[in-house]
Amino acid sequence: MNVEPSAPSRSLAPGAERIFGAGEMPDRIRACDWSLTPLGPIASWPNALVIAVNAVLANQHPIFLFWGQDLIQLYNDAAVPNIGPDLHPAALGQPARAFWADVWPIVGPPAEAALRGQSGWNQDQLVPILRHGRVEDAWFTYSHSPVRDEQGTICGVLVTALETTPRVLAERALRYERERLLAVFQQAPAFFALLKGPQHVFDMVNPQFTRLTEGRNVLGRSIREAFPEAVEQGFVDLLDRVYQTGSPFVGRDVRFTLRDEAHAPDERRVDFVYQPLREPDGSVSGILVFGVDLTGRREAETMLREQRERFDFATDAAQIGYWFCDLPFDKLIWDARVKEHFWLPPDAEVSIQTFYDILHPEDRERVHLAIEDSIRNRTRYEVEYRTVSPEGEQKLIHAIGRTAYDAEGRPLRFDGVTQDITALRQAQDARSRAEEALMRSEKLALVGRLAATISHEINNPLEAITNLLYLVQESAVTETVRDYTRTAQQELARVSHIVTHTLRFNRQTNTATVERLSDILDSAVAIYEARLRHSEIQLTRDYADAARLLCFGAELRQVFANLIANSFDATKRGGRLILRTREQTNWKTGEPGLRVTVADTGTGMDAATLRHLYEPFFTTKGDNGTGLGLWVSREILTKHHASIRVKSRKAPAPKGTVFSVWLPLGPGSRQCVEGELPSGD
Ligand code: ADP
Ligand code: MG
Repeated sequence: MNVEPSAPSRSLAPGAERIFGAGEMPDRIRACDWSLTPLGPIASWPNALVIAVNAVLANQHPIFLFWGQDLIQLYNDAAVPNIGPDLHPAALGQPARAFWADVWPIVGPPAEAALRGQSGWNQDQLVPILRHGRVEDAWFTYSHSPVRDEQGTICGVLVTALETTPRVLAERALRYERERLLAVFQQAPAFFALLKGPQHVFDMVNPQFTRLTEGRNVLGRSIREAFPEAVEQGFVDLLDRVYQTGSPFVGRDVRFTLRDEAHAPDERRVDFVYQPLREPDGSVSGILVFGVDLTGRREAETMLREQRERFDFATDAAQIGYWFCDLPFDKLIWDARVKEHFWLPPDAEVSIQTFYDILHPEDRERVHLAIEDSIRNRTRYEVEYRTVSPEGEQKLIHAIGRTAYDAEGRPLRFDGVTQDITALRQAQDARSRAEEALMRSEKLALVGRLAATISHEINNPLEAITNLLYLVQESAVTETVRDYTRTAQQELARVSHIVTHTLRFNRQTNTATVERLSDILDSAVAIYEARLRHSEIQLTRDYADAARLLCFGAELRQVFANLIANSFDATKRGGRLILRTREQTNWKTGEPGLRVTVADTGTGMDAATLRHLYEPFFTTKGDNGTGLGLWVSREILTKHHASIRVKSRKAPAPKGTVFSVWLPLGPGSRQCVEGELPSGD
């Protein structure tokens, strides 16, 4: 068949005069050689077909006419764009079923139904169509109706087809936009609600809004119905104003209280905006509510601030400084107090080098090791160290810290606190010194009581023996017995002396007397007269004290007696012992006083002995020593506000020991001219 797509021909086929009107399709139909189609030449077309074709061609709505059982298709000018340049004009005169085979499953059934007498109407039907070289999605709204001849026999189908593709696509884009916007609102961390009309009816809310309002069911209800409590809180007035004026309202940190039967009143804090929604004509049709719930955030902020205040108070009250440090020591943060502990101003820059620089040099290594140990072995870091100011002042700091690690066990941070314990330590030291002093005086009292008891017990038999010896001497038969008895009496006198003067030291009379020191020294030497004679030790007395001293003479005699006895004990045959007195002013205080030195060429003392010299019961003499001599001496000297010093050398030669006692001439003492006698005491 030849429905050739050439330009309309001027040579008209027979019967062409039956086709009316101007235009592309009337021309093509007139020019077409229809004799090659099942329709036959136009001259032979039944009247029904001619009338239908002329009606279709005259219409400006896109219309197809399918004629006969073969559904041979004809169409008008308006339908040309629907078919597209790829299939037009080839479509003219073709049997529809074959020509539209691809889409016949879609467009065929209504056409076949029309052939059976049924009309139909389809809206926005998708018909993929070959156009512009490819298959395009196209949408059509079309209707089918049977065409009957004058006998009522169905002889064709009339299809009006309006392409709706642009509108369908536009609607689809709009729907997509709207859905996307809704999705954004649904997921937004903000709450959102759409209110419609002057009654502010909830049209749409997102999950955040539902959460904010504790799941209250609001859709389709007005604000007054959904939130009666919003009326008294002024929100409805606000909405009314926005609706009436058309200007938005922005609320910052606004509180409102949810109040219903099911829940306790619950205060919310929100930032929000009421945005009026306008119609194309400018009138307001609704309000968009959009905002952020601050309730949790404000609470968190408040909690954080309160914690911070408590922390600051605690560290402030405890005078604690805190430091934070990223490992490996690349970032250090010290608070003002840590800086104070390190003698630094609050705005000082610090590094790990600063830390070690200000540490006392003797403490650096120890602290360094402690830090390393804590980081490596996950132990608590706790040290005391000294910090040194540029002027050389020191603070004693107690530091506690710990290391934080990441999931892989790598050390992350080394944080902690510092405390200045200088004053605390000084107070502790003072307390323990006071305790020591107390203990010492308690011991002294104990020993004193013990000694007093012993001396009391010994004194009576001593007196008896003394008397008996006197009787023995008086009645002695031979000179030898008399000599022995005399020696016995002398030794007994020594024992008596020790008992009364050494053991009863704390029972000494409390009455002070004015005495010459050299006299006291001589009386002390007298005790050892016999020993001195046998020992071949050379004793030198070098006295130069004129002033008389107000003192407890018997007690001072005990002091010097012990010093002399110790020298004897330490000095070998042929050694020397020097007793010296001098008037000497204390160079520090300018106070007048007397100095006594007891020097020997004895064994000397080692460092350990020197360290324990004044401790009670410390002796190197085994059973021959009590270790109480120097201890008691010091107590006695303290009572006299006197001081005692020792210098000793064990090796190399010359060996020896010098004890030196300085006694202040108190107000009761007298400066005397040599030779002057003391006026009566
Ligand atoms: P004691 O004489 O009973 O041992 P002291 O308190 O008098 O007790 O002396 C304590 C110790 O001090 C003596 O044991 C002795 O070791 C040492 N010492 C004291 N004076 C001298 C001295 N002049 N030379 C060497 N050692 C001495
Ligand atoms: Mg002694």
